[in-house]
Amino acid sequence: MACDVLVIGSGGAGLRAAIELADRGVDVLVVGKSKKRDAHTILATGGINAALGNMDPQDSWPLHAADTIRDGGWINDPRGVELLCKHAPRAVQELAEWGARFHREPGGKITQRFFGAATYRRACFSGDHTGQEILNVLVDQAEARKIPFRSEVYIFSLLQSRGRANGAVGLDLRTGKILIFQAKAVILATGGHSRMFERSSSRFWENNGDGIALALQVGARFQDMEMFQFHPTGMVHPPRAAGVLVTEAVRGEGGILTNARGERFMKRYDPARMELSARDLVARAIYTEIEHGHGTRHGGVWLDISHRPLPYIKKRLPTMYRQFLAHAGVDISRQKMEVAPTAHYSMGGVLIDHTTGETGIRGLYAIGEVTAGMHGANRLGGNSLAEIMVFGRLTGAHVARRIKKQKLHPLDQRQVAGAIGSLLDRLAPAGKDPLAVKRQIQELMWTHVGVARREKEMQHALRALGRFRALRLQTGTSLARNQRLVAALDVLNMLPTCEMIVRSALLRRESRGAHYRTDFPTTQKQWKKNIICTPTKAGVRLSTRPIPPIPKRIRLLAERPKPSAHLLE
Ligand SMILES: Cc1cc2nc3c(=O)[nH]c(=O)nc-3n(C[C@H](O)[C@H](O)[C@H](O)COP(=O)(O)OP(=O)(O)OC[C@H]3O[C@@H](n4cnc5c(N)ncnc54)[C@H](O)[C@@H]3O)c2cc1C
Repeated sequence: MACDVLVIGSGGAGLRAAIELADRGVDVLVVGKSKKRDAHTILATGGINAALGNMDPQDSWPLHAADTIRDGGWINDPRGVELLCKHAPRAVQELAEWGARFHREPGGKITQRFFGAATYRRACFSGDHTGQEILNVLVDQAEARKIPFRSEVYIFSLLQSRGRANGAVGLDLRTGKILIFQAKAVILATGGHSRMFERSSSRFWENNGDGIALALQVGARFQDMEMFQFHPTGMVHPPRAAGVLVTEAVRGEGGILTNARGERFMKRYDPARMELSARDLVARAIYTEIEHGHGTRHGGVWLDISHRPLPYIKKRLPTMYRQFLAHAGVDISRQKMEVAPTAHYSMGGVLIDHTTGETGIRGLYAIGEVTAGMHGANRLGGNSLAEIMVFGRLTGAHVARRIKKQKLHPLDQRQVAGAIGSLLDRLAPAGKDPLAVKRQIQELMWTHVGVARREKEMQHALRALGRFRALRLQTGTSLARNQRLVAALDVLNMLPTCEMIVRSALLRRESRGAHYRTDFPTTQKQWKKNIICTPTKAGVRLSTRPIPPIPKRIRLLAERPKPSAHLLE
C-alpha cells in the first residue's frame, strides 16, 4: 500500500498529525493495532493543560513552562517545553471548535481545575473522560477528511532504503494477511511502554514498547529511558483491578490521603503542596508509608473524596464513581478509596528535535508518548494530552513541507522478504508460553526496577532479561487471530525496551524525579544531564549530554520557591 506519509498509531498524536497532513493536501494513511476509536488515549481522564487563565487570570504560558521544568527535575528539553506551553491554548481552542464538550463555567468559559504541581488551575476537562472526548473528536475530524485507516494491524518492521525510512511491514491481526506499506515519510506515534511493569494503568495489549523496538531497528537514538512515571494512585483491590488508574483529578477536587493510622502523611513529605505535590513525590510518599508498615490490608493507603456531595462527584468524577462501584463495590461519595502507585507514563523514549519531530533517521519522525524530552524526570498531569495535540500539528505541518518535492523511494525487496521471513520464523508449535513469559518480564521489572531501585536488584534484572532473549516461544502456526503470536511479538519489543530502561537506570547514580535509587537517594548537580542510548553494531551504547540552556525568563520563574498550598475550591 503506497501513500505519501504513513502514520503508525491512531491515538491522539497520530490522528492530530494525520489531520494536519490531510489539510495540507498530503496523501496520508493511518495504521493502528487497536480498533479505530479505541487507542490508549481514551484512557486519559483528568484533563488537558493550557494556560488559558479562565479561573486564575495570573496564569501564563511562561508559568506553565516553569512548572513543567521545575517538577520535571530540570532535564526537560527547554525548546520543546516552550513550544508546548505556547501552543497549548490554541490546541484546546481548536478542540472546542471541533466540538469537544469541555466543562464550562456559567458564563461559558472553559472550566479549569488544579492538577499536581501546577501553580494555577490549568487543566481543562470533560468530566473525567477527557481523552475519550478528544479521541472521538479527532476521529470525527479524520473521517470528515476521509483519511484512510487500517485498524488491527500490528506493524512489526520498519523499512529503510539508502538510510531513509520508506515504509513498514505489518500483520493484519484479523485476517493474518501481511501488509507492506510504502511511503515518503513515516511518523511513529505508537505511544508509551508502561506495560513493561506488572502493575500498570494501561491495558494488556498496548504500551508494549513497539515504537521503541521499531525505532531501534532503523538505528534511532533514545533519551532518558530510566525515567518512568509511577502514578501515585492506582487501585489495589480487587486483584483483577490492581493498577487501574485513580485520576489525579480526585486530588485536584480536594481528595485527602491518609495512611492506615489515619495520618494525613503528605504533611511530612511536602507540607506546602500536600496532596497536590508533584507525582513523583506523592508516589514515593505512598510507597514509603506502605514500606514502613503504615499501609492498608491490601497494601495501599486511603484516598478520600467523600466530603464532596454525591451530585458534585457524579458531575466531576463520573468515571471514578462508576469504576469503584463496579470493581470494588465502593461508593466513593461515602467510602474511602484504597490506592497505591502504578506504572503510568514513559518520559523516556525516542530522541527527537521537538521543533520538527525529526528522529535523526531520514524520513522517520516521532510524536507523542513514544518520544522523550518533554517531561524530563517527571510529567505533570495534563501535559501529555497537550503534547499530542501540539506536536501532532507541528510535526504534521513540518512533514507536509518536507515531502512536497520528494518521490517514493523504491522498497528494498530483500529487506521486505527478510522482515516477513523473521515473522514466519517466529511460528513455532512448541516452546514456552509467550503470555506467561510476558507476565514474568513484567513481574521482574516491577519488583526490581520499580518505584525504588538499587544496583543489586537491577543487575539481577539485567541478567534475567538476557536469559529471556534465548527462549523459543510457542506461538502456534496460524497468522490470523493468534494471541500467542501477538504476545511473542510483544516480548520481542519488550526486551530491548526493558534493557535500555535498566541500563540507563544503573548509569544514573542519583535520584531525580521519578527515578528513585535507594543506594543514591539524593539529586546530584553533575547528573543534571540526559542519558542517550545509541545503537551500534556492537549493541546499544550509553552516553550523556548536557541540557540545552533554559530561556532566562522561564528559568527565573522556575527557580522561585515552590508555590504555596492551593486554595481548593
Ligand atoms: C489511565 C490513564 C489516564 C491518563 N490521564 C491523562 C490526563 O488526564 N491528561 C493527560 O495529559 N494525559 C493523561 N494520560 C496520558 C495520555 O493518555 C497518553 O500519554 C497519551 O494519550 C498518549 O497518546 P499517543 O497518541 O502518544 O499514544 P496512544 O494513545 O497510546 O496511541 C498509540 C497508538 O499506536 C498504536 N500502536 C502501537 N504499537 C503499534 C504497532 N506495533 N503497530 C500498529 N499500531 C501500533 C496503538 O494501537 C495506538 O493506536 C493518561 C494515561 C492513562 C493510561
